[in-house]
Amino acid sequence: MPGSACRIWSIVLSALLSLPHLSFSQDLNRLVSAELNSLSAFYKDLHANPELSYFEKNTSAKIAAELRSAGFEVTYPVGKYPGGKYTCYGVVAVMKNGPGPTVMVRADMDALPIEEKTGLEWASRVRMKDISGEEVGVMHACGHDMHSTTLVGTARVLSQLKSRWSGTLIMIGQTAEERGGGARALLADGLYERWPVPDYALALHVDTGVEAGKVGYCPGWAWASVDMVDITIRGVGAHGARPHQGRDPVVIAAQVINALQTIVSREINPVDPGVVTVGSIHGGSKHNIIPDEVKLQLTVRSFTEEVRQRILSSIERITLNTCRAAGVPQDRLPIISGSVEYTPGLYNDPELTASTVKALESVLGEANVVRIKPTTGGEDFSEYGRTEHKVPIFYFRVGSAEPGSDPASRPGLHSSLFKPVHEPAITAGVKAMTAAVLNLMGR
Ligand SMILES: [Zn+2]
Ligand SMILES: [Zn+2]
Repeated sequence: MPGSACRIWSIVLSALLSLPHLSFSQDLNRLVSAELNSLSAFYKDLHANPELSYFEKNTSAKIAAELRSAGFEVTYPVGKYPGGKYTCYGVVAVMKNGPGPTVMVRADMDALPIEEKTGLEWASRVRMKDISGEEVGVMHACGHDMHSTTLVGTARVLSQLKSRWSGTLIMIGQTAEERGGGARALLADGLYERWPVPDYALALHVDTGVEAGKVGYCPGWAWASVDMVDITIRGVGAHGARPHQGRDPVVIAAQVINALQTIVSREINPVDPGVVTVGSIHGGSKHNIIPDEVKLQLTVRSFTEEVRQRILSSIERITLNTCRAAGVPQDRLPIISGSVEYTPGLYNDPELTASTVKALESVLGEANVVRIKPTTGGEDFSEYGRTEHKVPIFYFRVGSAEPGSDPASRPGLHSSLFKPVHEPAITAGVKAMTAAVLNLMGR
């Protein structure tokens, strides 16, 4: 190359390297790859030693220790279950770094009652008693081990990048997401009183629908509200040969189940999603006995509070009146109850989403940040944005699928075969969450 062309090229190159986003992206790549081996080992250890919701004693201790050694001031355990029935092992870690906004990053820590069948070297062989006292196999089949690892990775990287941000960073290890009570338990224990109320809250979840190395986002309503409803249909027992002497709750239950399917199809605006599923029906003991009662268990999904209330009230109206129409006596009308494991819908703040997506694109590349559809799954991260403080929240997805694999053949979340491609997912997760925080707190 002639001397002058060479000089021009080196000027162009140094100008390119001095661009703030380019050098930041390089710094970030370097920091994350330096942590990857250790984060991968941390992930495998969490994966091999999963703990069920409300039993995350060792997991939370490991996360607390990691956050402490990254320089955070750690309080642990935090969380209050109503009536103190379960211990809550929440972790709250704070790093104060001058004036500026307060940003909260949350990861969940709990595993599921599933026996792992992946055959991985680091597969779980753990069995433990669940809250009902029954012994079950335990597996991180929802990737919360990945979320906790990403939290630790983000904490380590941001503590090394302290000169680039200003404000208060709060890292949360959350108990019992799978039972829908962990976020409420932390809030009930004064999360927004004992520590600064965040100006923004961020979280992520692995996604088998997105390839590892990519992230997905959905502005606005992204996750559904989840209600569990229990119904006891009470009839009047009789001999199976003489049904006219009783009021048959099995026949009434069948009518109720069919009638409930008209709520979404006939009562809800077709452009508003809703789901009513009767997942369990139990009643009776023998061919020739008309039982006294039949029990139903339902899951209800919706996005807006208006649709949710409409579905819940219609379930009550239809069930009550179907029983009345069958001639059930007044004192044997059905018992209908909601569950404490209610999870509200998750609304990604559109402004926060748009600005974070730009930050994610700058570190991962535009092609690796994909828009995805809402899901009727539930996620209690929504709770952090629903207090009187109206904290804007953003929850994105981190791809965990083998690139190029057939989506139909991938074991999904909550499957005993769920097997995320962990290193690219951890790398993308830490880079994305770090960029998301710096977007809000960067100097
Ligand atoms: Zn899950
Ligand atoms: Zn999950």
